[in-house]
Amino acid sequence: MVYYDEFVNTIIENAWQGIAPTQEECVKLLSYDPASPEACAMRGAADGLMRNRTGNAAVLFAQIGVSCHPCPANCSFCAFAQEYTQMPAFKMSDEDIVAATESFTQDGDLFGLWIMAMADYDVDEYCRIIKLVRETAPSVTNIYSNVGDSSLEDFLKMKEAGIDGVYHICRLGEGEVTNLDPKARMQTIQNAIDAGLDVLNAVEPIGPEHTPEQIAEQIMLMRKTDPIQTGVMKRINVPGTPFEGTGEISHYRLAQIAAVQVLAHADVEKLPWIGHHEPCEACYVSGTNLITAETGVNPRDTAEETSASRGMDLTDCRIMLYEAGFTKLAKGDGTFVDLDVDYIKEHTH
Ligand code: SF4
Repeated sequence: MVYYDEFVNTIIENAWQGIAPTQEECVKLLSYDPASPEACAMRGAADGLMRNRTGNAAVLFAQIGVSCHPCPANCSFCAFAQEYTQMPAFKMSDEDIVAATESFTQDGDLFGLWIMAMADYDVDEYCRIIKLVRETAPSVTNIYSNVGDSSLEDFLKMKEAGIDGVYHICRLGEGEVTNLDPKARMQTIQNAIDAGLDVLNAVEPIGPEHTPEQIAEQIMLMRKTDPIQTGVMKRINVPGTPFEGTGEISHYRLAQIAAVQVLAHADVEKLPWIGHHEPCEACYVSGTNLITAETGVNPRDTAEETSASRGMDLTDCRIMLYEAGFTKLAKGDGTFVDLDVDYIKEHTH
C-alpha cells in the first residue's frame, strides 16, 4: 500500500535502481506542494539515496571573497551589482588571504576552497593570489575559482597557478536580470572542461517566480556539465537591489528542489556533492551534503566581512553537519575523517 501517487513511487523505485527521472518528470515532481505526501516521500528518498551512495559523508567547503567593486555584470540579485551596490570597493591584503586560508585549512578537513573575485577580474593578479593560496593550503584541500567568464587560455593559466576546478553557472534569468550572455556562460564552462578542470555549479538564484519548468530545465542544463559538485540556492533579496521586498522561497521548498536534483542524478556513476544556500537542516535531510564557511565579501550579504554577518565559521558548519546526521567528512584527496562530538570539540578554536 502506498499513500502517495504511484508516479512518485515509480520515480523513487527507479532512482534506487540507478534510473533518473526525465526533465518532464522533474517538472511534475517540482509541481507538488512542498507539504504533500509526494514531496515528503521524494525528500526522504533523495536523503536515503545520497547517504547510501556516499557512505553518509559530507564535505566542508570555504569561500574567500578576495575583492569587490561595482560589478558591470549588474546582476539584479547581487550586493555588488554596479547600479545597486552600497558596498565600498574592497581588496583583501595578501596577509589576510594567507591568514584566512590558514584558518580554513588548519584542521586538514576542508575539501574545497573557493576564491571569489568579480566578473571583470584581472587574470594575472588572480593567478598571483591563487599561487599564494595554493602554497598555503594543504594538498587535501582543492582550490576552485569563482570568477567571471573566462577563456581556455585563462583557465590554463589558473590551472598552472593551482586551481583544481571552476565554479561557474548559467543562472536562472541569465541575460535578463544580468548583463551577461547565457551562451558565454556555457562556453566558459566548456573552456574549463577543455582545460581539464573540474566543474562545480548550482541551480540559482531561485525565487518564488521560477516555474517547475524553468527549474527542471536548469537542473538538466547544469547536469549536462558533469559537475563534481552541484546544488541549489535560493535568492536572498539583498537590500538596495530590485528584488528588495519581493518574496523568497522557503527552506522547505528549497529542500524539495534539492531532492529533485538528487533524484535527477540517480544514474550518474559518482553522485556529485550537493550544496545549498542558505544553510538549513531541511536540505540536509533531503539530499544535500555540502556546507560552506565564508569570509571576506559575499554577494548575498551587504556586510564587508560576511563571517561576522551571514557567513558561518567551520565550527558552526561541523556542528550543523553532525546535527544533520552525517558521520564522516570527506577530504579533497578522497580520504575521510569521523565526524563526532569529540572531533568537533578537538577542532573548535
Ligand atoms: S553575481 Fe557575480 S557577476 Fe553578478 S554582479 Fe555579482 S559579482 Fe558581478
